[in-house]
Amino acid sequence: MRGRFAPSPTGTLHLGNLRTAVLAWLFARSAGSEFLMRIEDLDAGRVRSRFVGAQLEDLAAIGLDWDGDAIAQSERGALYADALGRLDTYECFCTRAEIREAASAAHGPVGMYPGTCRSLTVAQRAQLRAAGRVPALRVRTDGEVVGFEDRVAGFFEGAVDDFVVRRNDGAHAYNLAVVVDDAAQGVEEVVRGADLLDSTPRQLWLARALGVPDPSYAHVPLVLGPDGRRLAKRHGDVTLREVAPADAVAWMARSLGLPPATTARELLPAFDPQALPREPAVYVDSAA
Ligand code: GLU
Repeated sequence: MRGRFAPSPTGTLHLGNLRTAVLAWLFARSAGSEFLMRIEDLDAGRVRSRFVGAQLEDLAAIGLDWDGDAIAQSERGALYADALGRLDTYECFCTRAEIREAASAAHGPVGMYPGTCRSLTVAQRAQLRAAGRVPALRVRTDGEVVGFEDRVAGFFEGAVDDFVVRRNDGAHAYNLAVVVDDAAQGVEEVVRGADLLDSTPRQLWLARALGVPDPSYAHVPLVLGPDGRRLAKRHGDVTLREVAPADAVAWMARSLGLPPATTARELLPAFDPQALPREPAVYVDSAA
C-alpha cells in the first residue's frame, strides 16, 4: 500500500495540516508502505513558491520522511492534458453567480452544476467567446451517485455533477490532477483531511472514467480551534514558527490517544488505524 501527502503551498502548515500529514505517514509506515510527497501547486493565484521549501522543512522537523523527491504538479501539465483528451468534456462559460442563480431557479442541489452549457451550439459558443467569455472545461456525467467505504469516515456517497476539469484560467483542476497523479504514482491509499470527503465521489468517478484503479480512502478528523471552527491563523500560535516541533508532536500524541512522543517515529509503535479518534481534535493555544 503506497501512501502520500499532498500539501498546497499556499501558506505555512498549521497544526491541523501537520497532524493530517503525520496520520498519512503513520498509516503508510505502520503498514510498512512507501510514502510519497507531492506539491499541489496548480493554483497560480494562491501558490507562493517560498512555502514549498518551508512546508517540506516543517514536515521533516516533526520527523516525517518520504521516499524519493517531492514532485510538483506544476511540472506535470502534459499528463493532465493527456487525461483530459481521454474524457468527454464540454466548454462552460458560466460565472459562479450564474451557476448559483440557475441552480436556485431550478431548485437544484446547492453546489451542483445545473448543466447550462451542456448543449450549446457552435454559434452560441462563438458568440460567448466574442463577448469576451473564456470557457472552463467540464466533464459530461450522468449525475451518477458514487459511494465508497472510507476507512475512517465509514460509508459515504455523493451525486457527481458535470464538474470542472480545466479552469477558465487554463489551470488543470484539483480533482483531475489528484486522480491522474495518484494513479501515475501508484498511490493505493489516500489519507487526508475530512474536508475533502465531498470531493471523493467526483474523484472516484474520474478514476473509473480514466480506467485507473480506485485507491482506498481514509478521511481523518480535522483540528478545530476553541470556537469550534477549523484551525487557522486567527487561533493564535498554530505553526512551527511559534510552537517547537517536539511540543507539536507531544500535542498530537495526546490528541490521538497515543503514549507521549516528541517525534513522529515515536508515535509509530502504538499507532492503530482502527483506534483513531473519530471526532475532530480541538487545539487550544495556551499562550493565547
Ligand atoms: N492539496 C490538497 C490540500 O492541501 C490535498 C489534496 C489531497 O490530499 O487529495 O488540501
